[in-house]
Amino acid sequence: MSSKIEELARSNVRALTPYQSARRLGGTGDVWLNANEYPLAVPFELSQQTLNRYPECQPALVIERYAAYAGLDTDQVLVCRGADEGIELLIRAFCEPGKDAVLFCPPTYGMYSVSAETIGVEYRTVEAREDWQLNLPAIADQLDGVKVVYICSPNNPTGNLVNPDDIRQLLEMTRGKALVVADEAYIDFCPQASLTGWLKEYPHLVILRTLSKAFALAGLRCGFTLANAEVIALLMKVIAPYPLSTPVADIAAQALSAEGIAVMQRHVSELIATRDKLIADLRQCGCVEQVFPSETNYVLARFTASSQVFKTLWDRGIILRDQNKQPGLSGCLRITIGTREECDRVISALKTLPVASDFREQA
Ligand SMILES: *Cc1c(COP(=O)(O)O)cnc(C)c1O
Repeated sequence: MSSKIEELARSNVRALTPYQSARRLGGTGDVWLNANEYPLAVPFELSQQTLNRYPECQPALVIERYAAYAGLDTDQVLVCRGADEGIELLIRAFCEPGKDAVLFCPPTYGMYSVSAETIGVEYRTVEAREDWQLNLPAIADQLDGVKVVYICSPNNPTGNLVNPDDIRQLLEMTRGKALVVADEAYIDFCPQASLTGWLKEYPHLVILRTLSKAFALAGLRCGFTLANAEVIALLMKVIAPYPLSTPVADIAAQALSAEGIAVMQRHVSELIATRDKLIADLRQCGCVEQVFPSETNYVLARFTASSQVFKTLWDRGIILRDQNKQPGLSGCLRITIGTREECDRVISALKTLPVASDFREQA
């Protein structure tokens, strides 16, 4: 249906399918395992009680503390409204609509395409290999006109790290031509794998981080872009004048205090123990075909009858994320690691389902 107003909109916006966030998809469950959120709230206080003044564009304490956490200089850190805003700022600063392109490797995070489409920049995809590593020769063939390459590591939704030697090769082949953006939204669950140490060798490397996952602050909307000072200065030209509200900066600074980081790290080790138990339990379920290893706070599993599994759990108030439509992921559901009790509810619900071999006989 087109009204006059609809016709006024840019054609790429009219054609756009918005990001299907877990929140938009809805559901009436009481066990929310579909958005990779931390299952429990962390406490905070509002110490800034006045809001009559505009906030700092780049709140100094937040920048200082994140730089210290990441082992970088303060001029290598930009804070913004979630890692999602970082994804978009990079396209806005580096890609000319109708001329330049971005590239990424499905199955992966959905916002790279949504941001490119919204801005009217072409996106190219090079599917990951069967082991979910980069197909470097195919990427090399597609690099013409590409300004930004997004590599999600650990990758959402598959849970694996991208082989660092492959990322090095990608950085060599893009030198002077394109940015390589490592989306490290889940790196706090495997901090040894971060690429921050490579920034001094590669002026075109950019790293995205967030407080939404391991720091348990998805509702805060706060993320970071890490890069060399030259890249950060360009992003500062296109960012909104006041990207973070005063309460957001206030709470982010608390989360990044020594105590806040210690709390996060304790949560991470507890969550990893819960994850490893869930993986072992899933492997005992007859309806599960395959459980993939994970470096993150979620697990991807393949089911013989995934839509039936999804629906059965949905009806019991357990909401998972269906990844069935992504290339190479037929039959796959993604399960966020909740509390131990929530994970146990998933397992008891799965135990009520027919085993994989019975489904095959029916088919
Ligand atoms: C959750 C997520 C983001 C977005 O993080 P926000 O800081 O909440 O915007 C970015 N990239 C990946 C891979 C994610 O899973």
